[in-house]
Amino acid sequence: MDRILAWCKNNAVQLDLGKSELIHLTRRRITDNPAVRLPPGHGQEQVSPTPLRGTLRWLGVELDRKLSFRQHVLRMQAKAMTAANALKMLGGHARGAPPAVMRQAVTACVLPVATYAAEAWWTPGTDRGSKGLASLVDKPLRAAIRAALPAWRTTPSRLLHHTVGIPPARVVLDMVARRSATRMARLDPAHVLTDARLRPCERPTHVQRLWRALPGRPERANPLAYAPWTNPAPPPRPVALGQDREEQTRSFEEWQRTRPPTDMWVFSDGSKKSDGSTGGGWVVRCTGRTIAEGKAGYGRHVEVFDAEARALRAGLQAALNAPGAHLAGNLWACLDNKAVVDLTTGLPRGTSQTTLQGVQSLLHKWRERPQDPTLQAARRAIAAARGEENDGDQANVVWLPGHKGIDGNEAADCLASDGAKTAAAENNRSSLAGMERWVRTMYREDFKCWWEKTSDDLQRPSPLPLPVAGVSKELKLPRAHLARLLAERSGHGDFAEYHQRFHHEDAVLNCVCGARKAPAHFLWCHRTPMPSLLRRWRGRVLAREEVLTTTHGAQALSRWLTATRNERLEDGIRQAWEA
Ligand SMILES: [Zn+2]
Repeated sequence: MDRILAWCKNNAVQLDLGKSELIHLTRRRITDNPAVRLPPGHGQEQVSPTPLRGTLRWLGVELDRKLSFRQHVLRMQAKAMTAANALKMLGGHARGAPPAVMRQAVTACVLPVATYAAEAWWTPGTDRGSKGLASLVDKPLRAAIRAALPAWRTTPSRLLHHTVGIPPARVVLDMVARRSATRMARLDPAHVLTDARLRPCERPTHVQRLWRALPGRPERANPLAYAPWTNPAPPPRPVALGQDREEQTRSFEEWQRTRPPTDMWVFSDGSKKSDGSTGGGWVVRCTGRTIAEGKAGYGRHVEVFDAEARALRAGLQAALNAPGAHLAGNLWACLDNKAVVDLTTGLPRGTSQTTLQGVQSLLHKWRERPQDPTLQAARRAIAAARGEENDGDQANVVWLPGHKGIDGNEAADCLASDGAKTAAAENNRSSLAGMERWVRTMYREDFKCWWEKTSDDLQRPSPLPLPVAGVSKELKLPRAHLARLLAERSGHGDFAEYHQRFHHEDAVLNCVCGARKAPAHFLWCHRTPMPSLLRRWRGRVLAREEVLTTTHGAQALSRWLTATRNERLEDGIRQAWEA
């Protein structure tokens, strides 16, 4: 206590000790729970501790003595259950809000509440010790998606997760924790979490485990690198290019021809393959000859933007190190990514911040490099003869239209796609944007993995499509049509077997054709009206099974339901008219 007060005094902070609370954190089975005595002059003598089984609420998180977070999760569960129960009012079986809108309500009102502060107690990729907590989160989640979908009460939750596009709690919690880990990469160096991440510990702390869950060596960005009132310099536009790409290409090449032969040119490009691997390539040219070139692989957790920025930095470095650099005049770095070009004079705050700062300092280095005064004078005389103003050597970044046959750009493009095939260097870092994509990809992949792993009693007559972590086309069907689809897919609906299983005494068990009501029976029944509508979707002939097991089949089913309903309505109107 004395140490805390001393620190406060040194940092000019005054504590309101009257508002203090106390909790002892320990995993040991001891019942010691002493109060802490306050130094005199603070109004009260001591702070009394939280009871042994009690919790202390801090920033909305219930801390318990063993840091098990069970009380916290239970409180969040109760809150989320209230929201989930409220959702039940909005949707019935055949009527109610559209399922896609209900899904939005679940992701906005139930998920964030149920997983509040999950990064404090959940380590991604492992459910050691927190399995029980995940099942506590599952409860309100399942209640909410059941309310969102028009399904019979007994429909398996597995199918509901599949239809609504929200995975079970374990996968959601993994995503929440991973996302918070990527946010840690965007904290300033003085942040308390940065300190917690770097502090050497015998066993890794929770914060360190979160950080280690990220792929590769994560890059970091400092959000406080520039004061909010700093204005960025305008983006470089040393040459006015036209509107359409052909004209842009022409004017770029014309401008390039007017430049003096002593100018140095850097062409760079980044590339991303379909398997996610990235690379960059660069070419340095002077007096029409290539004097340096290179390529590098940047690994799988990097975006095209980052690859472009890294290739540009490497190209500029190569130009500065080139043997004739001290003899050259201006430096022109040309690339086809406008976002990167604009940030070479801007204030990079997010992904690739360090790389772009490196680019800015290399450009500055070129302008400030030591030069032979005779050469400089000669260049000034040439510029004067050409009617140009020469205020020292320029180093500028130019945007050019990509894939338009401009010589250096094509060479850099080739090198970049070669670079993407090579392995990343040892000190390569995953970029912020790359890690954010990684979180989304892992979320989708984990969802699919879970679907494939869980028992396949629903996979009849043939497997359902893999789940989509978002709004699927099935979810966009009208509520009543989705209800029919879910019933037919799960067998939990108006079917003979189902009625018998749950002892529905007064249920009608047979179809009008005389057969027992069964899932998918309507596809084979000879009394089904307009069967041809079920067999065709957008010029494709559908197999009968496809109606229930594929997305386009579901759409054909919806169209058929609309048509038969209208026919029945017309029949009803006709009968009423004739009567
Ligand atoms: Zn029938």
